Amino acid sequence: MTKAQTQAVAKARSAVAAKEAKKPVPRVGIVSLGCPKALVDSERILTKLRAEGYEISGSYEGADVVLVNTCGFLDSAKKESLDAIGEALRENGKVIVTGCMGVEESRIREIHPGVLSVTGPQQYEAVVDAVHQVVPPRHDPFVDLVPPQGIKLTPRHYAYLKISEGCNHRCSFCIIPSMRGDLVSRPAAEILYEAERLVVAGVKELLVISQDTSAYGVDIRYAESLFARKKIKARMTELCAELGNFGAWVRLHYVYPYPHVDELMPLMAEKKILPYLDIPFQHASPSVLKAMKRPANDQKVLDRIQRWRKEVPELTLRSTFIVGFPGETEQDFDYLLQWLEEAQLDRVGCFKYEPVEGASANALPGAVPEELKEERWHRFMQAQQAISAKRLQAKVGRTIEVLVDEITAKGAICRSHADAPEIDGTVIVANARTLKPGALAKVKVEKADAYDLYGKLA
Ligand code: SF4
Repeated sequence: MTKAQTQAVAKARSAVAAKEAKKPVPRVGIVSLGCPKALVDSERILTKLRAEGYEISGSYEGADVVLVNTCGFLDSAKKESLDAIGEALRENGKVIVTGCMGVEESRIREIHPGVLSVTGPQQYEAVVDAVHQVVPPRHDPFVDLVPPQGIKLTPRHYAYLKISEGCNHRCSFCIIPSMRGDLVSRPAAEILYEAERLVVAGVKELLVISQDTSAYGVDIRYAESLFARKKIKARMTELCAELGNFGAWVRLHYVYPYPHVDELMPLMAEKKILPYLDIPFQHASPSVLKAMKRPANDQKVLDRIQRWRKEVPELTLRSTFIVGFPGETEQDFDYLLQWLEEAQLDRVGCFKYEPVEGASANALPGAVPEELKEERWHRFMQAQQAISAKRLQAKVGRTIEVLVDEITAKGAICRSHADAPEIDGTVIVANARTLKPGALAKVKVEKADAYDLYGKLA
């Protein structure tokens, strides 16, 4: 192009930009419910909209339209989703619904006939199209800047990294495979480029998520892809080794206890990834696990936990369990409590079994009465609280590394290698109010309660 042509193009561009600038900026509000996987879906939708010139509104009044990304996993989550849709309709009036509960369109429309559009999970294009219908984009490629790492709904210093979608298991209490389909893994290079962009943008902790992290790559036969001129296999161990090179904390969620999880121990010992595993065991009694269609063998798992701890003594294990599953007898429950005592897990969540609509477990005999579920839940929590408190108490006197999440009047609210955001405890550091969120610090632990640690800068 000649200089004159370049100038003419620039002039035309600024004329377009000036015309577009006179139009009001379209604004989208978002209510994002559910798990970190749904949060990543919300981030993808917002990144796309932001690239088209939309702004994100933090309030109902400031938004031209509100997206509600719903969760449909449990009945309580469905209720929360329906309530959120109702609130958005009352406060704003223009509401687009997406996410896991979107598969129940007729139920949503029956309760909230005023919603403008309903789509299921991961239907990014359909959601963006629905937004276009309500409030068209004011597109200006010269002023619409999207940060290269995309739009993140988590604080700037940590981000969820979704490595696959869907699941090949068919646990009898779960309807996720029917909502999200079979496992679909992302190529390793695509994940690594995303992780690299996030770290360059200031992210200090990468939280690896999926429905089943240890199955990563099975569907694409561990295909290799090219990252920084190196062929990387789409396999959990290889991916984690590469993620560990970015210098950020790498935390693994939703790991199924397959044998190859053992391969992660050397990476933890070398401090490439955090010594932390979130493994949803769900139960320990062999007959309940069988009814749940979970292949894990309780005794083998206990042996492996012991071996892992020998190799990585500071390993933190987090898990979730379900009590009151159909057919769970008093013996099954006692077995679970005994297993818990032997496993000495650090962090544990427990749910009372809920018959989720569409789950095959609902057809199983031996429904446990609600009062009994409640009673077992309390006994379970009491037993685990004593274990967690003892394990936290053992940290008093040690010096640990923490990441600062926020500064409050109480001091810096931080997390250690053992604490995932939102679900685990925190480390409260009274004399660290001058630190900024995202900073790393060394802290001497002085006190512990059932969930949190308290300390001073070392
Ligand atoms: S592993 Fe089981 S509980 Fe987890 S998503 Fe797959 S089917 Fe559901």
